[in-house]
Amino acid sequence: MKFGKSDSTGIGRRIAKLVAYSVFAAMIILAVLLSVLQVKETFESKRAGLEATAFVFASAIADHVETRNSSEIQRVLRSVARVPSVLNAAALDRTGVTIAQMGNATFLRSDLINSNQSTLEMLTKGFLPISVDIRRGGEVVGSLVLLADVSEVRFHLLWNLMTTILGSLVAAGFAVQISRPLQRKITAPLVALTKAITKVRDTRSFEVANIEGAQGETKVLVESFNGMIDDIRTRDQAMQKLAYFDPLTGLPNRVHFQKIVDELFSNPDGPKTAALFVADIDNFHAINDAMGHSIGDAMLMNVAALFKDEAGETAQIARLGGDEFAICVPNIATVAEAELQLARFISTLYQPVKLLGQELHITVAVGAIVVPLQATTASEAQRYLNLALHEAKNLGAGRVCFYRQELAENIKVEAELAQGLRLALNNNELQVHYQPVVDLKTKRVSGFEALARWNHPTKGFISPARFIPVAEKSGMISELGDWILLKSCRQAKAWIDAGQSPRTVAVNISAAQIIQAGFMGKVRAALAQSGLPAELLCLELTESLFVGKSMTTVEKILYQLREIGVRTALDDFGTGYSSLSYLENLPFDKLKIDRAFVSGMKGGRKSIDLMKGIINLAHALGMSVVAEGAESLNEVETLRELDADSVQGYAYAKPAPADQALAIANQIDEQASYKNVANLR
Ligand code: C2E
Ligand code: MG
Ligand code: MG
Repeated sequence: MKFGKSDSTGIGRRIAKLVAYSVFAAMIILAVLLSVLQVKETFESKRAGLEATAFVFASAIADHVETRNSSEIQRVLRSVARVPSVLNAAALDRTGVTIAQMGNATFLRSDLINSNQSTLEMLTKGFLPISVDIRRGGEVVGSLVLLADVSEVRFHLLWNLMTTILGSLVAAGFAVQISRPLQRKITAPLVALTKAITKVRDTRSFEVANIEGAQGETKVLVESFNGMIDDIRTRDQAMQKLAYFDPLTGLPNRVHFQKIVDELFSNPDGPKTAALFVADIDNFHAINDAMGHSIGDAMLMNVAALFKDEAGETAQIARLGGDEFAICVPNIATVAEAELQLARFISTLYQPVKLLGQELHITVAVGAIVVPLQATTASEAQRYLNLALHEAKNLGAGRVCFYRQELAENIKVEAELAQGLRLALNNNELQVHYQPVVDLKTKRVSGFEALARWNHPTKGFISPARFIPVAEKSGMISELGDWILLKSCRQAKAWIDAGQSPRTVAVNISAAQIIQAGFMGKVRAALAQSGLPAELLCLELTESLFVGKSMTTVEKILYQLREIGVRTALDDFGTGYSSLSYLENLPFDKLKIDRAFVSGMKGGRKSIDLMKGIINLAHALGMSVVAEGAESLNEVETLRELDADSVQGYAYAKPAPADQALAIANQIDEQASYKNVANLR
């Protein structure tokens, strides 16, 4: 910071004043001293001159004083009075009695005698008394007193003082002018320093220019200040980096991205529209767990670099934390444009990534939103983006979801359902319905599938497909699952106790339930409390169980179940990954082919061949096959021809409360016996 001419503020003014006062005071003191000396000298020379005159006249009147001839003395005194500036002359005798006096002024006697008056007294009174001895033959016979007018000295003194004051004022002015450059040198850095400090205080920003040009102690002060500001700036930058950037990838972090989104809505000079994406790497946790955190980190850096390369100058990339990356592409106004942009980024992941000699294929679930088309505030945009990502993750790996209004509504409904579900168990709103499973060979009901039902007081029946995921998310699935398991086991045992032929009961177990500690204990307890033989219980698990979880944990549980005699079924086969490796490696007893597959058989030969292939494969792996959702007798017949073992569907019976389900099952059995008898005949 350089300083200008206008530094005569504050300290500058005070220095100018100091210079002016000092010069003025010095001049005045000097002038007064000189004047006093001059006055003294004037008085002294005046006194000396007058004394010399007085001596002359004293000797002239000595005889007359002796003889007290006052008329002669008077004559001489008259001459004395003619001497310029003498106001009065008096001759006194030895005793101090006036013998003769001459003059035009009246004086006090003391004035006449006191010839040793101080300079100040003489100045104030305006006259100078002189007294000399009158001697005759060496003997003092009297004294001659003269009183001289010295008022002009007073005038001179006043005049001198006046001119001195004026001169001093002019000198002080000059001094101030002359001292200005010097004063500026001293004060300017201080003024600049003060301004800088004030700016820092007012703006709370340390972005002030360095101060230059100081000297001496001020230089030390200014340099310390500059150094301190530099340190703070460096620290600020480091903190800024920490606060706004992700240390692993060097990308802007969540806080930074939030600012980017805020600016989209608040900066009038910025872009007016944008597409926002949040990408979450699928199964990242599994990769991290299986291959170690350093591989996980390498993968994140890889994705960051790929996205950053693709973004170039046209988009901004951020790492929101964990395996989530955000992308902001400005000047995108429609969903169609946004889809094109997103495709650019997703296609960068098509090439497999090589890490530790292994080729990894990365897929991401993406939530997307176009602003301001789909959100009118920054906080709305963030919230909707999260909802879209959440939905994309729910849909499965590699899925993209653009925000839709119903996502926000779903969340609200889900929250209400979760709230209601807590009360449902206590209020007996939950029931279990049973759907018969028919053996295709014997045509008899070999078992039932237990299906949860929620009879909501105001909403009526709510499908398990809706409330089971809510129970899973809200953590209620454990309590709910335990209740259904025990209730189903008890029901199956009650039927046996009532003399019915032993039939299996299949209970659906959600992924969240099975990985909970103590799951095996709960199964054992349900069997023990109900008294149901273990081999009559079948647990149905879906492929979702394996997503993001270690296979070995699930495998262990499946073997433990087999050990105690409980059967297991892989449910909904054909809807998820339909991975053959699950079939090959995991010890399932049954394979339940999903309804979509069964109804797909109408589509023609290819679908039927596929169904045949799956059934043969299951049999080859030692599993029996249950076909779900057969709605027509045609489908049942085809399934029988394809060698499926059992069938479960509306063609035979819908899920129903226990009593009705039993009645229907017995009816099916009866029909089977009748047909069998008929066939025998
Ligand atoms: P899921 O285990 O595959 O159950 C079979 C579903 O197919 C049942 O639906 C059943 O009513 C339906 N279904 C059976 N035959 C037919 C048919 O011919 N046509 C049609 N259109 N549908 C048929 P539901 O009862 O609505 O259950 C849906 C899903 O909810 C179940 O699929 C299961 O995954 C889950 N679920 C039901 N109860 C429970 C439970 O107690 N615990 C857990 N974890 N999940 C359950
Ligand atoms: Mg099931
Ligand atoms: Mg199923």
